[in-house]
Amino acid sequence: MFAKLRQFMQGRYGSDQLNTALVITVLVLSIINMFAHSPVVFALEVAVMLWAVYRMLSRKIQTRLRENKAFLSGWNKVKQFFARIKNRIKDRKTHVYMKCPECKAQLRFKRVKGEHGVRCPKCGAQFNVKI
Ligand SMILES: [Zn+2]
Repeated sequence: MFAKLRQFMQGRYGSDQLNTALVITVLVLSIINMFAHSPVVFALEVAVMLWAVYRMLSRKIQTRLRENKAFLSGWNKVKQFFARIKNRIKDRKTHVYMKCPECKAQLRFKRVKGEHGVRCPKCGAQFNVKI
């Protein structure tokens, strides 16, 4: 049985992070639909599940790898966004966050009262910051 499955999966893509995310999406949708009873949500559930199965059984490994890479790149942006929020909350008592008036880069300053002349490390613009 196990050998048969292994033989069936030979040359096929299998699972990756995107497939895991798709399965989690299906689980979340089915929990939502336990309360919503919506045929639209059910159709979406089936579509996402079929997409996950299609990706798993696909023989176009390079295409699936590219899809997963694109997914991971987007997912990392989401993770970085929440990591920045977490850091801001963590050092809210010791640091102040402001945007550069020129390039809009997020800058972090030590919380020292007074007006300070600063230079943006990204674009080199000089400006005053009042804390
Ligand atoms: Zn700047």
